[in-house]
Amino acid sequence: MPMISPADAARWTGGTWTRLPDAPLAGVSTDSRSVTPGSLFVALRGERFDGHAFVEKAFAAGAAAASVSSVPSVCDSGVEAGAAVSARSMFHVEHPYPSLRNRRPCYLTHTTEESHRIVSEHLKDSALYGGDIVGTGARYCPSLEDKVVKFSSRTSHHVFVEPESLDPALDLAYPNGLSCSLPRDVQVTLIHSVPGLEDAAFRAFAYAIEYDFYDPRDLCPTLESRLLPGAFFAGQVNGTTGYEEAAAQGLIAGVNAALRALEREPLVLSRTDAYIGVLIDDLITKGTDEPYRMFTSRAERRLALRQDNARFRLLEKARRVGLADPAFLADSARIARDVAAEIERLDHSPGDSAGPGAWARALMHPGARYRALPFANPNLCNDAVEQIEIHYHYCGYFRQEDEMVRRMEAAEAQRLPPDIDYFAIDALRYESRERLAKVRPATLAQAARIPGVTPADIAVLSIFLHRR
Ligand SMILES: Cc1cc2nc3c(=O)[nH]c(=O)nc-3n(C[C@H](O)[C@H](O)[C@H](O)COP(=O)(O)OP(=O)(O)OC[C@H]3O[C@@H](n4cnc5c(N)ncnc54)[C@H](O)[C@@H]3O)c2cc1C
Repeated sequence: MPMISPADAARWTGGTWTRLPDAPLAGVSTDSRSVTPGSLFVALRGERFDGHAFVEKAFAAGAAAASVSSVPSVCDSGVEAGAAVSARSMFHVEHPYPSLRNRRPCYLTHTTEESHRIVSEHLKDSALYGGDIVGTGARYCPSLEDKVVKFSSRTSHHVFVEPESLDPALDLAYPNGLSCSLPRDVQVTLIHSVPGLEDAAFRAFAYAIEYDFYDPRDLCPTLESRLLPGAFFAGQVNGTTGYEEAAAQGLIAGVNAALRALEREPLVLSRTDAYIGVLIDDLITKGTDEPYRMFTSRAERRLALRQDNARFRLLEKARRVGLADPAFLADSARIARDVAAEIERLDHSPGDSAGPGAWARALMHPGARYRALPFANPNLCNDAVEQIEIHYHYCGYFRQEDEMVRRMEAAEAQRLPPDIDYFAIDALRYESRERLAKVRPATLAQAARIPGVTPADIAVLSIFLHRR
């Protein structure tokens, strides 16, 4: 295990680390707490962690930066109002649906040529383009400076004016789409150039921050550091951006620190278990050279990873670590059994040809509803019916995805011995040898996910494994 001095550790955290000779990590003291006793530590620091730098920036009320009082002027200006959205299903099925009455609409307005002229004229005064900040910004939340520079052919960008409160007396709105790092006086002129916001007053101004992150390739799938065993890292400190990304990692790091303290098996979610598994596998395998955001497109199994089936998909893991209410787990297990039995019954219903029975086929028709069919079991609950309908409506697509995942799992099962001398495999490209030697993937599938390792390299490795 490499030795890390308390001074290094303190430099990394901004706090004070104590290291005892025989302990992997003795403790850490943060700005707000004294030394954390024992050898477990979950680091959730967002900013100023020594390493590489990324940038976040925002503009407007609520989310952190500028807030404007603007709702009346937007309402009167004729800019487009959006209907308040209604949620059909909740992300977390244990929580009741919230009341969606008394919602206030968001408004849609846009930047103007004048707004873009103001940004261009003051680019050199902005933190992002003036040289004060050098880190890479979040690709998917570009600042207005970025939009004006990178999409210079566009003369306008959307701005969603989002009320911050149901209380009309609290006249705060978040102009979503106007994040920037311009000086305050320029921000005032800029926001007044947007239709509907001509009279807006600022409650807080936009800003940009630059933060350092720790290379997540040094982490285990439990988010425990390989360099500092006993320290678990979660959130922006691992190079991600976003609330959900931080929350997901916080859950895994926290659960695993607790399991470690209880001397129990760790909780590891795979890429096919959950999006959390995809996020962590991406981070620890590939690292990241820009703020990492989770997208459904990053998952191989995105048809199977759905919010409606999370309670069934993660049932056993949740039970094992005691993460869900036992009554809820029992209810989920009962529904899962009902669904499996009903699918079995429908698949084996009478039919004239090979393959699923006639009742199953009837449900495969687009728009077919289970309860409207004569063979429906009236005792099934709505959640079970939903699973049965999804199963049959999308079964062709699920099959295709299953086939792809089977191929992936076969590659996952092909383990790469840790002692491979990649530099001795002449048929590999030199860049790939370097990358493979650095990451030391555990499986062929993990090797395939390393950026810069090509399908041809994987074919070479596969032959190498076969011959070995
Ligand atoms: C202006 C702005 C707008 C954003 N908008 C969005 C958005 O709309 N949607 C979205 O998904 N994401 C958004 N993000 C990104 C998102 O906020 C972050 O990625 C996320 O909050 C990171 O969470 P975290 O827990 O990793 O870090 P943080 O939320 O930064 O938490 C780190 C915590 O550690 C504490 N800390 C630091 N050092 C010490 C120390 N030495 N001792 C004790 N405590 C310490 C800090 O005080 C803080 O409470 C935005 C970010 C910014 C800056």
